[in-house]
Amino acid sequence: MSSQSSQGGFLPSEEQVLALLSQIQDWQINHGFLLKLLESETEHDVLSYPVGVSLYPTPFPKSLFNRAMDIQSIYNELYVAIARDETWLYDATKELIHTESLANALWGIHEQSKAAGAVQEISAAIFRSDYMLHTTNTKSPDPLDESETTLKQVEFNTFSCAGASHAKRVADMHRYMARTGAYNFKDAPEHHRPRASSLPRNDNVESLASLLATAHAAYGAPKSQASKQTAVLYIVQPYNFNVADERPIEYALWEREESVPTYRLDWGEDIIQYTTLTETKELLFHPPWLAGPDPVEVSVVYMRAGYEAHEYNHIGWQARLRLEQSSAIKCPSILSHISTFKKVQQALTAPGALERFLSPDKAALIRKTFVMMYPLDQSAEGLRARKILHDDSSNYILKRSLEGGGNNIYDGIPDFLASTPPGAWPSYILMERIKTPASMPRNILISRTGVEEGLTVSELGILGTCLWKQTKEPLLHNTCAGWTFKTKFADVDEMSVVKGYGCFDTPLLE
Ligand code: ADP
Ligand code: MG
Repeated sequence: MSSQSSQGGFLPSEEQVLALLSQIQDWQINHGFLLKLLESETEHDVLSYPVGVSLYPTPFPKSLFNRAMDIQSIYNELYVAIARDETWLYDATKELIHTESLANALWGIHEQSKAAGAVQEISAAIFRSDYMLHTTNTKSPDPLDESETTLKQVEFNTFSCAGASHAKRVADMHRYMARTGAYNFKDAPEHHRPRASSLPRNDNVESLASLLATAHAAYGAPKSQASKQTAVLYIVQPYNFNVADERPIEYALWEREESVPTYRLDWGEDIIQYTTLTETKELLFHPPWLAGPDPVEVSVVYMRAGYEAHEYNHIGWQARLRLEQSSAIKCPSILSHISTFKKVQQALTAPGALERFLSPDKAALIRKTFVMMYPLDQSAEGLRARKILHDDSSNYILKRSLEGGGNNIYDGIPDFLASTPPGAWPSYILMERIKTPASMPRNILISRTGVEEGLTVSELGILGTCLWKQTKEPLLHNTCAGWTFKTKFADVDEMSVVKGYGCFDTPLLE
């Protein structure tokens, strides 16, 4: 670890850091705050390593944290309205069908399942809206002064939102550390002694389980003659190293006062092999470990796989089509999945787009969280993007409508586009860079590669859960379900803790 002096004047000594690291390591082992080292896996054994975390919680403005939580129900309403408006959604994303095979697969599966006749009117979703702090004063901004620091949205995720369980664990871990006085070194100034009362509670796991339980109840009793039991089917990627993020939601469902049976099934071939559709489209799961003839009828399909283009080979396509066609409630349905494309986020910045879905007051609150975004097509907005590229694109990021990290272009955008066939340009959006306040907090980040100190930038993710009918009725369920908070070094562009960029953290609300 570097031993340079921190900006606030205090940097714990090597000895103090070691004492904290030892506490954190024990906490992580005892709470399964770990990732599997898949290459070490044998039938009976696997090595694992701790999920990256920050040594200290990081200061974050309380008013902006609360604002983000408060507007989540409006974001939920917006993205449900988008999933109900197939015409608008198609228009916003149709350019992608020719350039992104994932978009082609999702629209193709949607068309096929629609042609077969929709049999489930209820949908569920877990959303995550990600924000960073943005400054309007680039000279000497104060990160905690709200008049110059605002909240800007990085992206809106509607599919397979990860990190909820890790976010809960890190909040519990920092609270434990604060409560035990682990940070209260004799020479530490007040602002380096985080108080537990300034660390928000995190109920992510319970909230997500609660949504799935509500959806399960909304499905009701088994409809097919063949089954006596209903269950949630949790679709996951095979060879998964991130089980410590996924499993807690499953365990919480089994643990409920009224237990909700939940089974995991790998994406792809296993869906084809272990599920069937009845004539009336009930989805039956035939657990491979049960010899008996009684299948389980699936009430809710919870998707934590199927977000990458390579998953849609012939088998993947057939598997998703079977799930989508079925009468199970999908979390989420394919139209909600499509609304996660970054083209949708950009299309919402067009004049009047938000007002199509929300009242003017609500639209104004949402618009405040937007930075400028442009398409790279032939529209007037697209021509504006070309002018930016021609003049100076250093304040912009180029994004492809894909998930999972590693797809954004942060530098050399004009050169990158020059080497990209013009036919593929419309699948990109140009997004203004969020300007992080210059007086960023310092922290010590712990990851597999080591323990390092430096200037940091944090990202706040707000989780939303909803349940709705495709027809225009009020939502059956619409809540802000919790938060995630991740911190990275200021000079790192990407953010994905499980891939080694950044770490989980807790906001210290001030
Ligand atoms: P994905 O998570 O699908 O890869 P994101 O839009 O979340 O794509 O971008 C990845 C990371 O890039 C973000 O977590 C953030 O750290 C950074 N980033 C994305 N958009 C911006 C932006 N407009 N300004 C500053 N940083 C950004
Ligand atoms: Mg992201």
